[in-house]
Amino acid sequence: MHSTNALPIKRLNAAVLRGLMLALVVSVAAPPLAHADYNLPSLGDTSSSIMSARQEHQLGRAWLSMLRGAVPTMDDPLLKDFIEGHVYSLVETSQLADRRLAFVLIDSPELNAFAAPGGVVGVNGGLFLNAYTEAEFASVMAHELAHLSQRHFARNLEQQERMRIPMMTAMLAGVILAAAGGGDAGIAALASTQAAAIQEQRRFSRQNEQEADRIGLINLERAGYDPEAMPDMFERLAQMGRFNRTPPEFLLTHPVTQSRISDSRNRAEQLKNGGQRDSVEYQMMRARVQLRHEQSPGLAAQRFRILLDEHEGDHAAARYGLALALTLGGQHDEAVGVLEPLLAAQQGNVAVNLAAAELDINRGDLDQALARVDRLLQVNPDNYPLQEAKADILLRARRYADAEQVINRLASQRDSDPDVWYLAAEIRGLAGNIIGVHTARAEYFMLAGDLDQAAEQLDLAAMRAGDDYVRRARIQARQEYLIEQRAIIENL
Ligand SMILES: [Zn+2]
Repeated sequence: MHSTNALPIKRLNAAVLRGLMLALVVSVAAPPLAHADYNLPSLGDTSSSIMSARQEHQLGRAWLSMLRGAVPTMDDPLLKDFIEGHVYSLVETSQLADRRLAFVLIDSPELNAFAAPGGVVGVNGGLFLNAYTEAEFASVMAHELAHLSQRHFARNLEQQERMRIPMMTAMLAGVILAAAGGGDAGIAALASTQAAAIQEQRRFSRQNEQEADRIGLINLERAGYDPEAMPDMFERLAQMGRFNRTPPEFLLTHPVTQSRISDSRNRAEQLKNGGQRDSVEYQMMRARVQLRHEQSPGLAAQRFRILLDEHEGDHAAARYGLALALTLGGQHDEAVGVLEPLLAAQQGNVAVNLAAAELDINRGDLDQALARVDRLLQVNPDNYPLQEAKADILLRARRYADAEQVINRLASQRDSDPDVWYLAAEIRGLAGNIIGVHTARAEYFMLAGDLDQAAEQLDLAAMRAGDDYVRRARIQARQEYLIEQRAIIENL
């Protein structure tokens, strides 16, 4: 599968520059705020009438597209779908007013998560590695949602106005540096000169952190999780800080003190206990990320097998991880044997069936893979991972027109997902729909922060459209939208 990180290094630097320019532009007109977790910009306080809620939303999304252009992201429909479902279920019991959220899954083994104005929720793959249970994962997400619901960005406003420009540059550089693994010396230098600004900002945010802990904890319990998971997660974070020379980014912005742990422990004990701690589904998603960050499929298989043996074969996530690792390592027959009991026990499980479909594909049996996916789609017709898998199988079977139908439907359901538009462009190309290729690429580039390329693609689409009035009108509407997007960034 492709991923949006297939961008050349030079693009990264261009994107960094554009990102920094955006940050500076924003900071002149609107008092910027930053949330400590990832030092993100806040794009204004709606209550101060400097910027409307709509503008804040638009700016948040514009910022997200810049971020996507600058950091490697993971195109894993199962993981993305899990995060979205998980966060939306937490939102149900939260105090969040504006529930239009956008998600980004960053391809990094470092523990981090963040929430930014405009409802942008970011998760590093590394959060799965370091949160041992679903409740621990939920405790981090509930904390982040509390930052959003309490409008901490806006409330930090006055305190940070004094040092807005260094903060803004620091924050974007920091985000990109963390995500890029610190490989770029120029960015590293920039980030280090701004370290003092971040230090200052951290001091201001301590109160917000405390509030996010308390409100997040209540949300965690209301959502049906065991509230003890939050102090447990903090203790794990504290341990990581003690044993690691370079503590994870999240810890830098979320210092875990003994008083913070005991405060949340005391509060958790006053709440109702006995909530959910974990799920097989979460452990399967963890296995996906673990496999990705293991040195080789062979090594991953070894570890999953040890775990499975420890549980005498009765550990669904270990079995699932082992089957994935064996598939990746080309040991298909063995993988079939490992997966079989899981398939029998969890006939309707999407992740397990997609693992089986992947095996079918690798063994050259596209018909069986398609039949498997179709059977589940009858029950879950709008499921994102299933629809994408179906498009992928049809593409492999060279049934391009059918594949296009599936991906077009998915793109209309997920019109803000650059990964889906990327695949749509590929499929439309093979289906011979050239205008469709250009419009899909335009959507992809808009969402990935490259407005110039998006404009170019729309021009090409318009040229091809000729006298087709309906098509031209549709393309023109997107061109106008693009101009609007530029104005949001430039006119501030
Ligand atoms: Zn926080």
